[in-house]
Amino acid sequence: MDLKDLYRDVILDHNKNPRNFGKLEPCDTSADGHNPLCGDRLTLTLRLEGDTVSDVRFEGKGCAISTASASLMTEAIKGLDERAITALSDVVHRTLTSSTEAAVPEGLGKLAALSGVREYPARVKCASLCWHTLAAALAHRGGSAAVSTE
Ligand code: ZN
Repeated sequence: MDLKDLYRDVILDHNKNPRNFGKLEPCDTSADGHNPLCGDRLTLTLRLEGDTVSDVRFEGKGCAISTASASLMTEAIKGLDERAITALSDVVHRTLTSSTEAAVPEGLGKLAALSGVREYPARVKCASLCWHTLAAALAHRGGSAAVSTE
């Protein structure tokens, strides 16, 4: 099994069985994301302890890549503070937008599966939607925010 098969299996698994799917009520902050190019929509709800994400859920309707990306993200950010999340988000963004020959950065864990998306530039926004939505939720703490990738 080569790396690409492994990546595809991770994406398919997280699309079929999304982790942390649902809604936190009450929550400390939330945001809605919309990717008009594909029609992906998701809502993130978060609980915070100080600067740290103690719990997160997502719900919505989108393509396999947007759903799998959100599922992987919720697993990756639980327990991280805002600074660590910003750093991780930067690495993910670089991974999604670098050339297909570039090495996948280390330390991404299962998020490395998203590197398969760079073979399909039109789907990058599907994969990054949840990260933009997360940034909006953290920036509008205590309220709600909406982002569109357009
Ligand atoms: Zn999509």
